[in-house]
Amino acid sequence: MAGYKIIAVGSYPSPRLRTSIPFTMTTPKIAIIGAGPCGLTLARLLECKGITDYIVYERDEGPDANRAGGSLDIHPETGQHALRQAGLIDKFKEYARYADTAFAIGDKDGNKILQMGEGRDAPEIDRAELRKILLDAVPKHKIKWGHVLKEVTFGHDHKPLLHFSDGQTQSDVRLVVGADGAWSKVRRAITEAAPRYSGKTYLEGRIRRDNPFYETMAGDFGAGMYLTIGDEMITITQRQGDASYRIYFGLQTPEGFFRTLDLHNVEATRDMLLSAKCYGDWAERYKDLIRHATDFWAWSLYALSKEDMNWESVSGVTLCGDAAHVTIPNGEGVNLAMTDALELATSIAQHGVEHMDKAVKQYEEEMFPRAVDSIHQGEIMADAMFVKGPEVFLEKVRPMMGISNSVGS
Ligand SMILES: Cc1cc2nc3c(=O)[nH]c(=O)nc-3n(C[C@H](O)[C@H](O)[C@H](O)COP(=O)(O)OP(=O)(O)OC[C@H]3O[C@@H](n4cnc5c(N)ncnc54)[C@H](O)[C@@H]3O)c2cc1C
Repeated sequence: MAGYKIIAVGSYPSPRLRTSIPFTMTTPKIAIIGAGPCGLTLARLLECKGITDYIVYERDEGPDANRAGGSLDIHPETGQHALRQAGLIDKFKEYARYADTAFAIGDKDGNKILQMGEGRDAPEIDRAELRKILLDAVPKHKIKWGHVLKEVTFGHDHKPLLHFSDGQTQSDVRLVVGADGAWSKVRRAITEAAPRYSGKTYLEGRIRRDNPFYETMAGDFGAGMYLTIGDEMITITQRQGDASYRIYFGLQTPEGFFRTLDLHNVEATRDMLLSAKCYGDWAERYKDLIRHATDFWAWSLYALSKEDMNWESVSGVTLCGDAAHVTIPNGEGVNLAMTDALELATSIAQHGVEHMDKAVKQYEEEMFPRAVDSIHQGEIMADAMFVKGPEVFLEKVRPMMGISNSVGS
């Protein structure tokens, strides 16, 4: 680590930069921004490969600060493969829920059209559990909580400078990896591409085990995921690790629509969902979901475009996971994020930390086609789900989901 020292206070002219990273901390060769699945998988894999000169900077104040946390299915060739390479597959299997791989499709009148996916090798795990497994596998002092990256600029030496929102800076980093999700602040140092609103928003609600409607709902919707399609809207119910449910009410709304609503006003939110414009004429089982759901939260769905996946490699900076290629949820996002982490760690190990630019270029060239494919799958999924009914959906996704013609027709 000789030669990688903390910047002195006052190295930069701006008075905002009076505070700097504490002197006890040395400058890492690799700065990973974001302790999500991608950033933590990368940290763990670097550790496994003996590349220990890295730091993860995360905006959350601590490991339990983040409320986001749907269940994720981890696929054998991608997410599971990365976990295996990281020496964590057995730990993963302790948490993996094979009973939740079932996938059902229904119509708005309450009929189940199709059930599939039982026993699939794509077990579910809660995001919080996946994060815990990864966090436990990375030395604690390598993660700097409460560090909100504001931007990356470049110094006179052309090396990246990290600027944090509290005014701290970090210079002389060899490689900044943006694993900071859809709204990446690192991305701007590489490309002008920005995610665009898809026209679709998932309004999340919860039915927990102490909810009076819980037993009825669990009986109606069961394990795994239940997708209902009608009138160009959807609902998705998804069982979580603690057997509670997340429900996504998928609606087509103008950009920013949900920012105009107070989602803490649970009754008003329910009234909106129950109105004739939304689920007013859906079967009672769906309206009951709305009547009992709590903790509403809007996930407006944004995506980069396939054309964005072609930037010129920039020395000292790269992107992985959603920061690189966020798309409409297509069941692959976290798997692809962990694959990126594996590919980047492998490339750095192969080329050596002294040849970081070559390593990054190779990683990016191989990542682009994966990213284009994922964005494409996201577009197909969005186009297929928000349709008149499940039969139209099935027609559109049969080949992609491997559903035979005899099912659901
Ligand atoms: C509603 C919804 C449902 C989904 N369902 C699925 C699914 O079933 N299966 C699936 O595979 N994928 C799913 N996805 C997609 C999946 O969540 C993402 O693809 C995946 O989380 C990407 O991982 P990541 O590590 O790249 O980014 P993230 O998970 O977004 O992690 C980014 C990390 O960076 C941190 N960060 C952000 N900004 C900064 C900053 N400025 N400074 C410091 N730290 C920062 C964040 O706090 C976070 O910890 C879903 C997405 C949504 C919105």
